[in-house]
Amino acid sequence: MQPYSLVIHGGAGTILKEDMTPELEKAYMEGLDEALRAGFAVLEEGGTATNAVKAAVVVLEDNLLFNAGRGSVFTKKGVQEMDAAIMDGKSLAAGSVAGVRNVRNPIELAAEVMTNSNHVFLSGKGANDFAIKQGVKLEPDEYFFSQFRYDQWKQIRDSDNYSLDHTHQGLEELMKDKKFGTVGAVACDGFGNIAAATSTGGMTNKKYGRIGDSPLIGAGTYANNNTCAISCTGHGEIFIRAVAAYDVSCLMEYKGLSLQEAMEEVVKHKLVDLQGEGGMIGVDADGNTAMVFNSAGMYRAMKHSNGAYAIGIYNS
Ligand code: ASP
Repeated sequence: MQPYSLVIHGGAGTILKEDMTPELEKAYMEGLDEALRAGFAVLEEGGTATNAVKAAVVVLEDNLLFNAGRGSVFTKKGVQEMDAAIMDGKSLAAGSVAGVRNVRNPIELAAEVMTNSNHVFLSGKGANDFAIKQGVKLEPDEYFFSQFRYDQWKQIRDSDNYSLDHTHQGLEELMKDKKFGTVGAVACDGFGNIAAATSTGGMTNKKYGRIGDSPLIGAGTYANNNTCAISCTGHGEIFIRAVAAYDVSCLMEYKGLSLQEAMEEVVKHKLVDLQGEGGMIGVDADGNTAMVFNSAGMYRAMKHSNGAYAIGIYNS
């Protein structure tokens, strides 16, 4: 087996140590570590990168702290509508879902789209119908409820504002600080294949069926064995306009940049020029990893078969 690695994120944004309690910090770290272990176990057992990213994202979706699956933010109408995407860098197969409701693990539905449909991207009711047909696990609305995200939504539901937010901070801070929540994973397996997965509840108080970058192949999620696997988090509208994930791939393919160089060019220059706050995680087919963000923090963790391990929240 060649070197293998996994990187995960749980969102980026204005995440400051002074806003965090030790208990909450510990809970985030434990949540990240649990997801990392679940995904890495797949790689250790000789599993595929696609299965590894799916396993890691499922754990993050099940964790109330992260804005994906259980604990997703509320829309203008007071429900959860979730987006997710997965891509296999070996075959360039991809599956995405947008605006799905009551699906316990949207990333599993995205994987079903990838492997068991003739399509790449399903949305809304049709995606939900497909979930039922495929036997993907559904949950009642209560399952997705979290008090702190409900309080966050209550603050702005009567306005036209929307918010990209993690919201453990005081609610009065809500409109002041933009914070992001989304989860993602990228992996390189022992066969030199790479994959990316991203899942999100999107933005608090979103309306009109708003969809962010996360489920859009090339914007928030991309994987290609020849270059990189990328999962993004941040202000989705800007990441869409920057075609952020695919731009990293292009810089590697056409300009010969390394993974780290290409991600820094996109995150620290191109996105900054467009005022696009956020970050991304990446791997290449040699197992190299990178975690780059232009915001105050990004929930993140990585593990490599050579023993390297890193976990962090803030910018240092
Ligand atoms: N990028 C996601 C979106 O715009 C949000 C996030 O990453 O926090 O839907």
